[in-house]
Amino acid sequence: MAFRKTKIICTIGPATNTLDKIRALAAAGMNIARINMSHGDQKGHQEVIQRIKSYNKTAAMPIAILLDTQGPEIRTGDLMENFTLAVGDTIEITAGSENPEAKSVITVNYRDMLKDLKPGDRVTLDNGIINLDVVEKTDFGLKCKVVDGGVVKSRRHINLPGIRVNLPSITAKDVQDIMFGLKNDVDFIALSFVRTAADVEECKRMVERYNGHAQVIAKIEDSQAVQNYKEIISASHGVMVARGDLGVEVPIEELPIIQRRIVKECAFQGKRVIVATHLLESMIENPIPTRAEVTDVANAAYEEVDATMLSGETAAGKFPIKAAETLDKILMRIERTGGIGWSRDFKSSEVKAAFAESAVELADHLKAEAIVVFTRRGLTADFVTAYRPRYATVFAFTNMSTVRRKLLLNRACYPYRIDFSSDPERTIKTAFALLQKKKLLPAGARVVIVSDIIAGTERVESIQVRHV
Ligand code: PEP
Repeated sequence: MAFRKTKIICTIGPATNTLDKIRALAAAGMNIARINMSHGDQKGHQEVIQRIKSYNKTAAMPIAILLDTQGPEIRTGDLMENFTLAVGDTIEITAGSENPEAKSVITVNYRDMLKDLKPGDRVTLDNGIINLDVVEKTDFGLKCKVVDGGVVKSRRHINLPGIRVNLPSITAKDVQDIMFGLKNDVDFIALSFVRTAADVEECKRMVERYNGHAQVIAKIEDSQAVQNYKEIISASHGVMVARGDLGVEVPIEELPIIQRRIVKECAFQGKRVIVATHLLESMIENPIPTRAEVTDVANAAYEEVDATMLSGETAAGKFPIKAAETLDKILMRIERTGGIGWSRDFKSSEVKAAFAESAVELADHLKAEAIVVFTRRGLTADFVTAYRPRYATVFAFTNMSTVRRKLLLNRACYPYRIDFSSDPERTIKTAFALLQKKKLLPAGARVVIVSDIIAGTERVESIQVRHV
């Protein structure tokens, strides 16, 4: 059986929020479902979470849940109807009272925007499609010239590249949504528009306060986060290269360089990394991706990221299942050619890390088919992932369902829950029986095991080579 190393995250939305579609996405390769709090309401999201949990009750491999906060987003207000802006038009932006003389007006949900901006600054709508230059401050707001035109719609995303937005990193809505996520036992919280490591620490404190087990993933999506990326990675369980916003907030030609730098730093620090947005964007409308999209997915596979993420493709696209299948197919194919092979620079003073490093070296040397890890909190499995086995699939056995779901994000890691015996040998036997029963490895396959053993009266860590 071939195991895909790069995991797949699919955003659930109107195109996929039924149990049947969730099942179909899982069959197509989804490992983690993303609930996007920028859209919909908690009631609707709760229904989706319930459907995923009900799928998990009988599934051979569960789906983890990632709750993505809205963050301090600026959006257009509700319009009576859409209108079109042409290059050279002028348009007024207001955050409240409107100029009755203005021909067309865009309202925004951020009052300080009028204070923060000055003539010459750029306002970008809809992920960079519409661009406006501020020409004048008026009594009512900002008069802007249209540089790139398009159709203005309600509740569209606005970016102010390079401007330090005076909104809290974790907004009141985010606090409510994070609490909602923790109550619903989600596995990951993706924190939008993280600016500093302190934002991540604040979210981690919330998780602790509510006795949650969710891991915090920092979304790197503006220039401040790019400046602070090393500290942000260090504070987080992992990060997301959120290329939708990032591609607007920094010069677009910088994006591949920033992505590579973040992925490399995550490899160095032994942290998880997700590449997100526009991977197969054209599949929102079309049944096949563009050649450039296939190459972008291939690049993420070469970079040996932990996961790739679909957004609009699965949330609202015409071909959501096909998009997930296509992503799976490209990743599987490219992984057969080998990845970038980051040097194993990750260092940790933990004994478990030293064992993980040795196990990975041994597995590579022997070209072992698998590394079998016994892990209570997921730490040893995290360390094995950090050392990036070249060939082996990692089968992680844990006695906690929450740890099992958390490990679904780890590159090349396939987690299972079993009861642990006080006798480690019995635990190994249980794991081997499961590997055989589910035909996860061919009979006689060589595996490297990282496990406790009893030596005399002492419990000690061990690395073993055995055959299934
Ligand atoms: C992104 O900007 O790429 C992203 C994933 O965030 P959102 O979809 O919430 O804007």
